[in-house]
Amino acid sequence: MLLTQLQRLVELMGDLGHPGSVVEMPDETAQKALWEVRKAGLNIMMSLKGDGKPVSFIEDCAVPLPHLADYTDALTEVFARHGTRGTWYAHASVGTLHVRPILDMRTSGAQKMRAIAEEAAVLVRKYKGAFSGEHGDGLCRGEWIEWQFGPAINQAFRAIKQQMDPAGLFNPGKIIDPPKMDDGALFRFSPATAPRPYKRIELKPVLDWSAWNVNADPVTEQTTAPGTGGDTTGGLAKAVEMCNNNGHCRKFDAGTMCPSYRVTRDEQHLTRGRANTLRLALSGQLGPDAFTGDAVREAMDLCVSCKGCKRDCPTGVDMARMKVEWLAHDRQRHGHTLKDHLIGRLPDYAAWASRLPWLANLREALPGARALSEKWLGLSAKRALPRFRSDTFWRTRDEAQFATREQTLAAGPAKAAVLFVDTFNGHFEGENAHAAAKVLKAAGYAVHTVTKGGGHVCCGRTYLSAGMVDEARTKAAELVDALLPFAQAGIAIVGLEPSCLLTLRDEALALGLGERAEVVSKQALLFEEFLAREAKAGRLALKLEAIDRPLLLHGHCHQKAFGAVSPILDVLELIPGAKPQLIESSCCGMAGSFGYEAKHHTVSMQMAEAALLPAIRQQPDAIVVADGTSCRHQIADGAQRQAIHAATLLASLLA
Ligand code: SF4
Ligand code: SF4
Repeated sequence: MLLTQLQRLVELMGDLGHPGSVVEMPDETAQKALWEVRKAGLNIMMSLKGDGKPVSFIEDCAVPLPHLADYTDALTEVFARHGTRGTWYAHASVGTLHVRPILDMRTSGAQKMRAIAEEAAVLVRKYKGAFSGEHGDGLCRGEWIEWQFGPAINQAFRAIKQQMDPAGLFNPGKIIDPPKMDDGALFRFSPATAPRPYKRIELKPVLDWSAWNVNADPVTEQTTAPGTGGDTTGGLAKAVEMCNNNGHCRKFDAGTMCPSYRVTRDEQHLTRGRANTLRLALSGQLGPDAFTGDAVREAMDLCVSCKGCKRDCPTGVDMARMKVEWLAHDRQRHGHTLKDHLIGRLPDYAAWASRLPWLANLREALPGARALSEKWLGLSAKRALPRFRSDTFWRTRDEAQFATREQTLAAGPAKAAVLFVDTFNGHFEGENAHAAAKVLKAAGYAVHTVTKGGGHVCCGRTYLSAGMVDEARTKAAELVDALLPFAQAGIAIVGLEPSCLLTLRDEALALGLGERAEVVSKQALLFEEFLAREAKAGRLALKLEAIDRPLLLHGHCHQKAFGAVSPILDVLELIPGAKPQLIESSCCGMAGSFGYEAKHHTVSMQMAEAALLPAIRQQPDAIVVADGTSCRHQIADGAQRQAIHAATLLASLLA
């Protein structure tokens, strides 16, 4: 039916003298991609770094369509006269263009805002439009209501509001008796002339935030060099200030973001609530030392570092990275807990523990030990911890099956891969690493692993999650150095655990490791990203047996944040007969050590029950693929089902 109508439209446009003017897009994937352009457009506009930001105050003006072009031309001239330009976005078809001029509200923004609003108002009246055309008035446009409707109607508004709310409790200052739009006391970033001007505290960050520490010329769009933006917190505050309160993170369909809010429905457990708390702390509005005080700790407590906001927030607020920064400062002041050491230093003691697994696993065997671990370490007695085992990947691998460094470099990018075996797959689920090596070899690649003392080289992920940034830097530097020669030769670094491999593409770049980390990050690929890339290039020769069971996929949050879920689907579709179904879910709730902690157990299970576990229970005969170690544990705990890594599935199907 729709396709017939589309065809008729094509013919009609041809008859009207515009042949070829209709872009036909009947394919669902292409349609989705097109809608993504709209979302991406908003992101680009809103993610302007520096102190000048697109400010909304005339963005809701609407004029009759025939005048829209003249109106926008005239407005562009107004902006130019005030030394700025507008960012245009939205739906011209109804006469509204959500234009936001770029202004620095800490300096001359307020004066320019009023001047531009007054000139825009004259234009709106000239073209017989409306000052608030779509979204309402709020505090900022309130003072233009009387201007728009005249004194008689405004008096009627007043009478209605007084009748309904004689005590003035509901939304005071809206519609009736609004404040001045440029009242500095109401600004988030108050100018120097305001009673409490906006100032940032002095803080030396442990991560590199210099990319945010810039200024941008609103007219030329030229951005100053990283680190030159004058931010006394090295760019951290500017990164936090990227949150413009638009509230996208309060939506329940905004991708992964924000799992904690979806459970508690409390603003403080939301990306925006966290960003606002951080902003207040970093601008001294919560008192001295507030960055490591109770308010920020409470706001950060339920952030599972899923990185959902890094991708889904229109301005790219990266709360997971901010949490690492905060944790480091918080622990510097208050000290690390026993649990921090246990989690953070896992890569250091995992090899020892796997030599004496009966001792390391005593918590699971001794009656009462779980309760004690809850009391002393804060680890939930309701959770079984991953079990140490003596048959680690490192002890069970046949070295002869792996290529040497020289053989790997000689084979080159098209014929070799370096398998990065992380702490979790190396020590707890070695079969995943064996499976990945088997698949890569079956596909014709020489496979190499980098080792240190006969074991793994660590990426630093667990240290980051415990706020041990110096240790994380040392570990990440070791790994980067070990991988560098291969990356320089263009050889892919293939990883299995999303949070570990993607550390190379994310936090490792903020640890001050320089150019070498950049080089390695460019070659770091998840197992499926590598296979999908090779398949696309026509280089993948994998013979797989068919399956006849449903296939469910749960994407790890970091895979979602880096757009690495669709390659998994692409690879699973290589299996004859497979129809992989992606479970539409947010974070599984385990999130590293989060779900193991007694105080987070309930919230963790609520996150899992929101979508993931019910979807798995609905398909009792499905194979469940989940690449994240903690996701697999959550699924086992909550749905009593054994999820598997995609590498293990593929290896089991090798023909
Ligand atoms: S953190 Fe939330 S409110 Fe702030 S910009 Fe991102 S989506 Fe909008
Ligand atoms: S990292 Fe995840 S939990 Fe934390 S604020 Fe962002 S979306 Fe929410």
